[in-house]
Amino acid sequence: MPILVMKFGGTSVGSLDRIQRAAKRVGREVANGYDVIVIVSAMSGETNKLVGYVEETSPLFDAREYDAVVSSGENVTAGLMAMTLQEMDVPARSWQGWQVPVKTTSAHASARIEEIPNENILAKFGEGMKVAVVAGFQGISPEGRITTLGRGGSDTTAVAFAAAFGAERCDIYTDVDGVYTTDPRITAKARKLDRIAFEEMLELASLGAKVLQTRSVELAMRYNVKLRVLSSFEEPSDEAGTLVCAEEDIVESNVVAGVAYSREEAKLTLTHVEDRPGIAAAIFGPLADAGVNVDMIVQNISDAGMTDMTFSCPVNEVKRAEKALKDARDAGEMGFAELIADTEVAKVSIVGIGMRSHAGVAAKMFKTLRDEGINIKVITTSEIKVSVLIDRKYMELAVQALHDAFELDKAA
Ligand code: ASP
Ligand code: MG
Repeated sequence: MPILVMKFGGTSVGSLDRIQRAAKRVGREVANGYDVIVIVSAMSGETNKLVGYVEETSPLFDAREYDAVVSSGENVTAGLMAMTLQEMDVPARSWQGWQVPVKTTSAHASARIEEIPNENILAKFGEGMKVAVVAGFQGISPEGRITTLGRGGSDTTAVAFAAAFGAERCDIYTDVDGVYTTDPRITAKARKLDRIAFEEMLELASLGAKVLQTRSVELAMRYNVKLRVLSSFEEPSDEAGTLVCAEEDIVESNVVAGVAYSREEAKLTLTHVEDRPGIAAAIFGPLADAGVNVDMIVQNISDAGMTDMTFSCPVNEVKRAEKALKDARDAGEMGFAELIADTEVAKVSIVGIGMRSHAGVAAKMFKTLRDEGINIKVITTSEIKVSVLIDRKYMELAVQALHDAFELDKAA
């Protein structure tokens, strides 16, 4: 039998009614001839509640016990889903991560899946079981302790199962009906994409389009798992949702696939730093050690052996960055005159694999922003992406203008 992986996110299993509705979809795929592996999230809000309990009980909590607590939300939905399927006469049973076993690293709260042996579940399929309901987000460490994969981790569980079982497809059921050209809350012209390439999705996912956990897209790309994102609230159809797939499987696409943004960014500038070998290491080493997620980096041209260094990071990491840099200066590792923080910036990016073969995309972006009177503070580019840092108050305007300029409301 071909295998299908179906993952249901928190809102899709948020009540007994919704579990029923999801189970019906599973039943339909069983009727279509699939053996199905269902991956479930906790009921919506449940994981947040559990994290709250942990933090209230123990501010400096033991990460192993954190995982023991927060993994439990998925156990509930796995059991309920299996029972609901049984009520519909679909042979099903639940599996917690350790029972499969989903073998992970010991990095509690952000573990990585290392291996998913498929014998146990395949043996059950062989005995006539039709659906294996697996609790997402969790696994077991080499030490035999329960682990979790980081928030949003059940997407990654789903893709890892699809890879381990050679599934025909991995369907991710969520509360949005697919991946959009940009956030529909910012422009009503945002259009649902039928297909998007793994690499584009990776850029969009890490740029703040919160549909899929970034790690799940990385895995899907590595193992060429066909991923479909679709809503569990819409009537099923073949065109439903967005297929995230290899570039070769996309026949036609716009040069720019989407416009992404990240609202809570900050820009920090160190003035008057020495332009010498090792200066970047002396600045960014301490920032990395302090856990600051540095994104864009610009070093100015040198003037009399001195230069300015500018970088961006999330707004809520500015205090930590400032402390790390001042400590490094006090320790004599490097020097600077001033540390200027601009906490009122946002990042806007255009993403598309078509940029590889088209010239003038960046220029068009800059011209579009100029026409709106928006000043660009920092620019970075990659093969398939151009990002700019701008004043936060213009973020929506920039996204709308770029969406119009690249005609993303129209399919290629
Ligand atoms: N329940 C977990 C979370 O809320 C995992 C998931 O739903 O993907 O982060
Ligand atoms: Mg999610």
